[in-house]
Amino acid sequence: METSVQNPSENDRFRDHLSFENDHGGRRWLYPRVENGPLLRRRTVVAVVLLAALFGGPFLSVDGHPLFLFNVIERRFIFFGVPFWPQDFHLVAIGLITFILFISLFTVVYGRVWCGWACPQTIFMEMVFRKIEIWIEGDHNARKRLDAAPWTNSKITKKVSKHFLFLLISFLISNTFLAYLIGKDELFAIMTDDVRNHLGGFASIVVFTGVFYLVFARLREIVCITICPYGRLQGVLLDKSSVVVAYDHVRGEPRGKIRKGETLKTGDCIDCALCVQVCPTGIDIRNGTQLECINCTACIDACDNVMAKVNRPKGLIRFDSLEGIEKKVPLRFTGRMKAYTAVLLALVGLLTYLLVSRSDLETTVLRAPGQLFQREAGSYVSNLYTIEFVNKTTRSLPVSFRVSYPGARIRLVQPVGQAAPDALTKGVFFILIPEKNLRDSNTKLEVEVVSNGKVIDRIQTSFLGPTH
Ligand code: SF4
Ligand code: SF4
Repeated sequence: METSVQNPSENDRFRDHLSFENDHGGRRWLYPRVENGPLLRRRTVVAVVLLAALFGGPFLSVDGHPLFLFNVIERRFIFFGVPFWPQDFHLVAIGLITFILFISLFTVVYGRVWCGWACPQTIFMEMVFRKIEIWIEGDHNARKRLDAAPWTNSKITKKVSKHFLFLLISFLISNTFLAYLIGKDELFAIMTDDVRNHLGGFASIVVFTGVFYLVFARLREIVCITICPYGRLQGVLLDKSSVVVAYDHVRGEPRGKIRKGETLKTGDCIDCALCVQVCPTGIDIRNGTQLECINCTACIDACDNVMAKVNRPKGLIRFDSLEGIEKKVPLRFTGRMKAYTAVLLALVGLLTYLLVSRSDLETTVLRAPGQLFQREAGSYVSNLYTIEFVNKTTRSLPVSFRVSYPGARIRLVQPVGQAAPDALTKGVFFILIPEKNLRDSNTKLEVEVVSNGKVIDRIQTSFLGPTH
């Protein structure tokens, strides 16, 4: 039997060096090994579903609207087929706060599962680009040998084919990304129309393609480790009771290689380093939870395979909390997890309620700015107003409005009978009130908006009159 006695400075290297950094401060290129296992199979299923949703998203529509649209330039946003107008800004703000809180609370309790299982960066890197690389260049050892080998025709062919496919997929991602920003129809116009009419759109496709290619061909794990703000937050979000991919040091240490016929005097870790070889961010999870760990679970599959071979229980690396490992208590749904989950559910419930109860028609009434009152025939006093209807549905809605004030009547200047679908419709009108009915120079009024025989909105406004 041989217990692992490593150079202490080598053991501690992870403390002050990034995993992708070599001893000279340059890039240490990683060649992660791929080990099959139940978690990889599940991740593959999740990735296929999410990729199908991502690429299909811009082409799906609900009630005439695309499923998602994030048109920042024109300030048009659609989530799950529901359009959001600037008037819905409070909902977007609440949604963003809920999202940030959700991510924070979720991470505090369940760790970085998002990164390993659902983040587009990980899914594209591990399930698309890495697979192409393995398909063309071979497994981790073959890839390492190829990079070290001189430039031969075979190497040039492999590298050119790989980077051509990388560019092609980056181009596809770029188009999909743009479709989420400007909508599929506008994207088709850029693709099919004269390029001179869409220089901005064409330039965006080129720039996005370049960025995605750079991310997946060169930056790779650097994105997760140093660029992604969510990754950088892990240090403040995780604590001893957060559930993360963790090495059971109580059971595993002291680690040591095993030899046939020798009595076992070590912990369960046989120091095979397979968990390090499979890690896409190049870390050794046996050093404890680290910022670089994206919870991809590759090391769990790898270690479980090793444990099965040496007839030791699986789960030496598993989803667990540091507290659970040290106190040797099985993973359970603690009071803290229940409380945080309840808060998460409450937030999602609140947002759902606000979305469901959102009105289809939003009305704004504004007195014409800079205008005072006018005296009219019959001892009436009039004020000029504009009315705006934002119809958030895909069907035209009949609209009318009335004023509830003694003797008040409305004279339409720019009439509105229908609020156009998915658009803003404007009208202009006068409110006339008999002067004798005005008690004040500034009278509060209520405009009732009626659609399909129902009062759907009540808007407060003011009416200026002569001083009494
Ligand atoms: S330590 Fe394990 S879970 Fe974390 S990134 Fe590496 S392989 Fe994935
Ligand atoms: S794969 Fe398991 S047994 Fe091998 S070094 Fe990692 S923790 Fe130890």
